[in-house]
Amino acid sequence: MMKKMFLVFSLITLSAILTSFTPIKKQQVLHTVIIDAGHGIMPGGGHNGAKGTYSYEDDICLAVAKKLVVQLKKEFPEISIIETRPTENIVALKERANIANRNRGDLFISIHVNAMPEIQHRDLVGHRTEVYFTGKGKKKKKHTRKIPQYRYYTTPNTTAKGTQTYIWGVHKAEDKEIAVRENASMLTEENYEEKYGSIDVNSPEFVALALVKTQQFGKRSAMLSHMVEEQFSKVGRISGGSKQRQVGIWVLQATAMPSILVETGFITNPQEEAYLNSEDGQQEIAVSVTGALHSYVSWLEKKQTPVVNSTSQVPVQPLSKMAYKYSEAVEQNKKRSVAK
Ligand SMILES: [Zn+2]
Repeated sequence: MMKKMFLVFSLITLSAILTSFTPIKKQQVLHTVIIDAGHGIMPGGGHNGAKGTYSYEDDICLAVAKKLVVQLKKEFPEISIIETRPTENIVALKERANIANRNRGDLFISIHVNAMPEIQHRDLVGHRTEVYFTGKGKKKKKHTRKIPQYRYYTTPNTTAKGTQTYIWGVHKAEDKEIAVRENASMLTEENYEEKYGSIDVNSPEFVALALVKTQQFGKRSAMLSHMVEEQFSKVGRISGGSKQRQVGIWVLQATAMPSILVETGFITNPQEEAYLNSEDGQQEIAVSVTGALHSYVSWLEKKQTPVVNSTSQVPVQPLSKMAYKYSEAVEQNKKRSVAK
C-alpha cells in the first residue's frame, strides 16, 4: 500500500517538475493568411462584380480588403498577410488559388458584396383592337378582339440586407480533397523534401492524410464563418448566418486550406450601399473580421494544448503530432476502404 502510494506521489511530483521546468510554449497557429478582394476591373475596362445605384462591388471589396489587411497587420504582427488582388485590376480565380497555395496559406478569406436581382414587373397599359376573320366566301365574318398591352420593367430589389459568410458545399468536399493532394507540400513541414526526400502522394498514408486534412479544413472553415457572423451581430448588422453555397465559389474548393467567403452587405439596399461605401462601415467590417480571427486563433490554441495522459500525468510531447496524424489518417483510410 505504502509502496503504491509512494509511486503515485512520485509520479505526481515528476509531472509537476516536468510541467514547471519545461513550460510548454504555445506554437504559432497561424502563419500566413490570404486576403482575397473579390472581382476587379476587367482588362478592357468595366466592372466585374455587382452594381449598386452609384457604386460597384469591385471597389468596395478592394477598399474593405485593404482596411482588413491594415487591421490584421496591426493586431497580428506575427502573421504574414498575402493579398490576391492588391490593385483594382481583376485577377483570374485560378491565379487567386495559386497565390494562396504557393504561399502555403493557413487561411483564405474572400471579401464580397451581395446583390439582389432586380424585380421584374408587368403593368397593363391598355388594349389594342385586332381584326380577324372566320369562314370563307359568303360566310366570311369580320370580328374584333382586344389584345392587352403591357409595359415590362424592372426595379431594384432594395429590401434584402445583412451579411452572410459562406463555406464550400459538402458535395464539393471531394474537389477540396483534390486541391489538398495537389498541394502536397503544404501538408508537411517546410523543406520536408530536402530533409526526408520526396512525398509519395499516392501512398495510402498520404491519401488518408489528405482526407483527414480536408475534414479538418471543413471544420475550421465552419467555425470561422460562425465567428465572423457572430462579430457582425455584435455590431448590430443583420447576420444571415454561416452558409454553404451550391454554386459559384470555386476558389473555396481550390485552396488547400480553411477558406471562407464573406458577403459584407447588400449593394442593392440603399442604406447598406451607403454603409459599404463609407469609411466607417468599411472599417467596422475590417474590425469585425479581425475580431473573428482572434476567436479563431484562441480556439486553435486551445486545440493544440498538449494532451495530458491520464495514467502517467506526464504531458505528452506535441512532437508526435505529425506521427499521430498519420496513424489517425491510416485509421480513417481503413474505415473508408471497408465502407467501399
Ligand atoms: Zn461577389
